[in-house]
Amino acid sequence: MIARRTEQLEARGRDEAGTTSATGAASAVRRFPYPYRAMLAICSDLDETPDARAYEQIMTYLNTDRDLGWGRGVGLEVGNTIYFDMPAGQFAYWSTDDRGRAMTRELMRSGHVDCLHSFGDGATTREHAKRALDELTRHDLRIEVWVDHAQAVTNFGADIMQGRGDVPGAEAYHADVTCDYGVQYVWRGRVTSVIGQDRPHSLRGVFDARDPAASLRTVGKEAVKHVLGRAGQVKYAMHGPNALVRPARLRDGRAVFEFIRCNPYRGGVERAATAAGIAEVLTDRFLSRLVERGGAAIVYTHLGKARRAGEPFEAATQAAFERLARYERAGNILVTTTRRLLGYRSAREAVIAAREAPVGGSLKITVAPGGPRLGRQDWQGLTVTLPAERGGRGVVGIEVEGVGRFAGRENPPDERGQISVMIPWERLQYPM
Ligand SMILES: [Zn+2]
Repeated sequence: MIARRTEQLEARGRDEAGTTSATGAASAVRRFPYPYRAMLAICSDLDETPDARAYEQIMTYLNTDRDLGWGRGVGLEVGNTIYFDMPAGQFAYWSTDDRGRAMTRELMRSGHVDCLHSFGDGATTREHAKRALDELTRHDLRIEVWVDHAQAVTNFGADIMQGRGDVPGAEAYHADVTCDYGVQYVWRGRVTSVIGQDRPHSLRGVFDARDPAASLRTVGKEAVKHVLGRAGQVKYAMHGPNALVRPARLRDGRAVFEFIRCNPYRGGVERAATAAGIAEVLTDRFLSRLVERGGAAIVYTHLGKARRAGEPFEAATQAAFERLARYERAGNILVTTTRRLLGYRSAREAVIAAREAPVGGSLKITVAPGGPRLGRQDWQGLTVTLPAERGGRGVVGIEVEGVGRFAGRENPPDERGQISVMIPWERLQYPM
């Protein structure tokens, strides 16, 4: 099953048009929700976030348009990560106070805290992992994305992240309970400089004439990873095909879906992965290239690594987020959380066919088994292009096999003049 899925995904990756090929001539699935031409998530590891207030300020700035005194929010949709056991002075679930924990749970419930960032440096045993999962379960909170952290022993990554979390018999083994709890997407340390995943490999846009030596080094490193990946080296297997997600197995045999993050900074994937550094990442060069390529990007960063806790984002960083917000408002890049981007992509890739029912005129979506578990909300944004003569109906029913019926909406012609219907994309409600 996994091999067949991989072949399907690769076949779709080869398709150069803006739509996937699996749905035949009559209708096709648009790569991204109408009217967007690319999709981006900022996936920030919370390392060094000093306290609950700094965490809250970062989230409120990114997700609302409020005036925070040091800057006005940009009103995007951006998630965050959480871990549990960390030394004093670093924000984490167990080290903050009851108010901090209540805030974190609210942000989990709303979908804004959407990734576990290991269980933290202080979590060294299966019991530590279980204590965290029990707490989440007790509050009926389901986090489906796992992101390895530094040298945390609960990590899943064997090669880059040196974890033991998926080694049966190890003191920190927890993959069984964590996957049973609900984790299905994992990040195990892989980062690329390539702008736009799920598109053919290309290094255009990484080179920056302002710093030719560093850019060339970065481009060279990435080219080597690509070649090694193509040649079958396991560590760089994801750098070969440049797919955002691949089916993978943890060392205990559990099936998961591994994703790759990107940071196309000219000086390399690690050097600008901070609050100040993101000013040099979210550049017009990156964002316009992402749109041109029609790619997806999960950006690797650490927004809690700020020079001043009370004012996490300085002027250049604020300008970068404002730039990203302009790309979204122009209908070019849909910005969302890591979990939602992965869910949307999984739903889109699961579509085998989109056909109009002979009676009633509703659209029937047939779905392939074997991919990630999907919830009803993962279908938001799915956009099916239609032949021009089918337009002019406004609202159309969209029936997704095994999921149910949605009220679809007809869109005006897109950038290629195609009409389409979609399951509307709804923004997450920021809870604070
Ligand atoms: Zn980390």
